[in-house]
Amino acid sequence: MSCVKQRDGAQGAGGAAERDFNAFEVMQPRAPAPTPLERRNGARVKSADQRPTGLYLPNNNTMAPHMRSPEYVQLSTAAAMTLGIMAGRMHRCECTRCLNLLLTYPEGCRANCAYCGLARHREAERDYADRNFIRVDWPAVPVRQILDIVARDGAASPFHRMCISMITHPRSDADTVQVLRAWTRRIDPGAIPVSILSNPTTMSRDDVVRLRDLGADIFTVALDAATPAIFERTRGKGVQSPHKWQKYWEILLAARDIFGPQKFGAHIIVGMGETEFDALQLVQRLVELGGHSHMFCFFPEKGSLMDHLPPTPRDQWRRVQLARYLMDYAGVRLEQMRFDGQGRVSDFGLPRAELDAVIDAGIAFRTSGCPGKFREDVSACDRPYGDSPPSDIASFPFQPNGRDRRRIRRQLGIPAVRAES
Ligand code: SF4
Repeated sequence: MSCVKQRDGAQGAGGAAERDFNAFEVMQPRAPAPTPLERRNGARVKSADQRPTGLYLPNNNTMAPHMRSPEYVQLSTAAAMTLGIMAGRMHRCECTRCLNLLLTYPEGCRANCAYCGLARHREAERDYADRNFIRVDWPAVPVRQILDIVARDGAASPFHRMCISMITHPRSDADTVQVLRAWTRRIDPGAIPVSILSNPTTMSRDDVVRLRDLGADIFTVALDAATPAIFERTRGKGVQSPHKWQKYWEILLAARDIFGPQKFGAHIIVGMGETEFDALQLVQRLVELGGHSHMFCFFPEKGSLMDHLPPTPRDQWRRVQLARYLMDYAGVRLEQMRFDGQGRVSDFGLPRAELDAVIDAGIAFRTSGCPGKFREDVSACDRPYGDSPPSDIASFPFQPNGRDRRRIRRQLGIPAVRAES
């Protein structure tokens, strides 16, 4: 068995430097401030009512035009560069393999999740189309323009998967259907499969059935919080947001029934106050249900209600990231692992040589998400720098090299027993 040495003094009540995990009592979001009436519900964009004229680049000193799904969507900066509609280069990445689309409306998302850059409280200072989300801007584009490019590229398309991200908006369910229909009319979903990142709050079981029948391949639920208490504090009443843990599970279980094994999953953000045991207990539950967990390392998103809080210490993140990979892809169960009194992984439940082989393979430390065309355990959704800066990568959007792996080992506190190349 392979044991991990944690730093002493981790329970100090002081700053991040003294801790090796983000404790519940530290990770308290700010209370949202009231929004002036004239900024609510996209009023500024709707009263200016400027006609969109194609690509809209956020934060470019122009007024956001009146854009709405299903005609318009936003897409990640990485996807816009890969499509060739936006200039730029990504650190150590040629492209992204997932075309992440986000529904868009002047009213924006009506939920108020504390860690999210799209949250409702931000309407006080920033129009929806100008808000940062998982650390990057999301340009807005007509859906037709995206379809034209992907259809034109055909088999040469760099994308292994497309994903529609719903938000909390009265039109979100119907418009997700419209965007999916528009996609499958032009693009073979067998060639570029579609994932749905759902918004359970407004959905019924019938909505899940409809999306499967229209050709969606994988259905995921952004549970994000690993425990009911963190969910309530960051996505529910704690921040005047409408989400309910029970409703999220209702739709997650519906997805299990309707999409089937390995075709559903949940997002989990690590480092919002749960213990490592809490996060991995949830991973185990998802494995037992037949699904996958897609993990994000908490990062204090600028402008969010948690932007004053510390990012997840790298040792906490690496332990959970590695343990999750072992559970999802190497058949290791929670009961085989050992945890210390603070719920931190102290033993990964594998013989040392096997653990070393997994660490050296590096895949465990890549971004997790829906699979692409390379292999089952390599996510198409690579989200370059969505949960960390390039200087201190949490989820690697590419294969970590020898230097990266040596750093990962230092973060894990598991030195190599033999020289690495
Ligand atoms: S529902 Fe999703 S998009 Fe809306 S605030 Fe919450 S996390 Fe952000």
